[in-house]
Order: sequence, then C-alpha cells, then structure tokens
Amino acid sequence: MDWSTLKNSKKLLLGTTNRKKLIELSAHLQPRGFDLLTLADMPSFIDVEETGTTFLENAKLKGVAQAVAQGLWTIGEDSGLCVPALGGDPGIFSARYSLSPSQSANASDRSLVDQNNNDKLLREMESVPDQQRDAYYVSAIVLCDPTGNVALEVQGQCWGRILRKRRGTQGFGYDPLFEVVEYHQTFAELGLNVKRAISHRSRALREFLRQLDAKL
Ligand code: IMP
Repeated sequence: MDWSTLKNSKKLLLGTTNRKKLIELSAHLQPRGFDLLTLADMPSFIDVEETGTTFLENAKLKGVAQAVAQGLWTIGEDSGLCVPALGGDPGIFSARYSLSPSQSANASDRSLVDQNNNDKLLREMESVPDQQRDAYYVSAIVLCDPTGNVALEVQGQCWGRILRKRRGTQGFGYDPLFEVVEYHQTFAELGLNVKRAISHRSRALREFLRQLDAKL
C-alpha cells in the first residue's frame, strides 16, 4: 500500500450523497487537516448498488467503486439500525425499509422515505413490550486507495431503545425514535454534539483515525 499520496495531499473523497452523514463525517475529519471532497464536487459519480450481505461488504462496495471511478483516496460508509426483537431488522435494509424491492431511495425523497421507514418500524414493533425494545446502530467505514484496494476497515456501534412515538427534530433516519437510555432523550432531541461524542459513526471514525495515524 502506497500511503504517500494521501500523506502528501491529504485529499479524501467522502463517498456518500447523504448530507447529514457528510456533516457527521466532516466533524471528525476536517479538524484533522483533510482536504475533504464529496460526490457533489465530482463532475459525475456512479450510483453503487448495495448488494452485500453485511454493513462492511456494502461499505466496501461503495468505497471501492467511487475510489476507482474518481481516482481518489475514498471513504466508504454503510450504516443502519438493528433491532434484536425483529431478528436484526431493518439492518442493512435500513435506508429502504419501507420501500418495495423494485424501488430505490434516491437523495431527493430521503426525508419522506425516512418518515415512512419510521412509521413501518413503529407498526412492526407495536406488540413488542418495553423491556424488549433495545436496538443498536452500526456504522462500517472503509478507506480505499485510488486503485480500489481496501486500506482500512472499522466498525462502530451505539445502543439505545426504540420509543413508541417520535421525539425531536434533529438528526436523520431513525433518530426521532432512537432513545439514548443514559440521556432519556432521542438522538433527534440531543443533536450533533452528543452524536459526535457517542454515535456509532463517531465511534467507528475514532478507531479509523487511530489506525490512520499509525499509517501516516
Ligand atoms: P446507507 O446510506 O445505505 O448507509 O443507509 C443508512 C440508513 O440507516 C439511513 O438511511 C438511516 O435509515 C439509517 N441510519 C444510519 N445511521 C443513522 C443515524 O445516525 N441516525 C439515524 N438513522 C441512521
């Protein structure tokens, strides 16, 4: 692995179109002096099909495809919510939970799809008793070199519980239903500062930066 191009240019492509994810990723990477690019900065980018069976596989599919297409060091991220009482659902299908298999969640209708996903989660969990409503978010993050080699891979988790009603307006996805037990508040009430401290994505990123520091 030739780390010199990343070491010298510090140029890093964030391989996602999710603006809320970009904000959370940048909060950790910007202060470390990376010159961050997003897919929106690219003249064109590919839409990668998430055909993997794990978060890590999907993060690799996204990271590798964008890295090769753009010829840049690229971060691929895949994440979702797992509810043990639902056998791990929505899991890797978190973004498309309420969609039929032929539909895809594109960036423009993301907040409407999020609303429908939350409605479906509430329906599926209607009969799940309070003491079985534990859930955890997972974030898998990979770093790919410009030729598509996976240079680093990490995962982070964050546990909470699923409420029976939405609370709060910040965050995205399932945040209005995801209560962080220690705070008695949802991620949508707590906002970016708390997510930056304890979220699955932040935990994965801290490990990512620890491993990257050792390489650069
Ligand atoms: P991805 O873009 O394919 O990785 O899908 C991620 C999906 O998982 C999002 O659309 C959300 O439904 C859910 N998700 C992942 N991370 C979070 C989070 O931090 N808050 C709320 N929902 C999340």
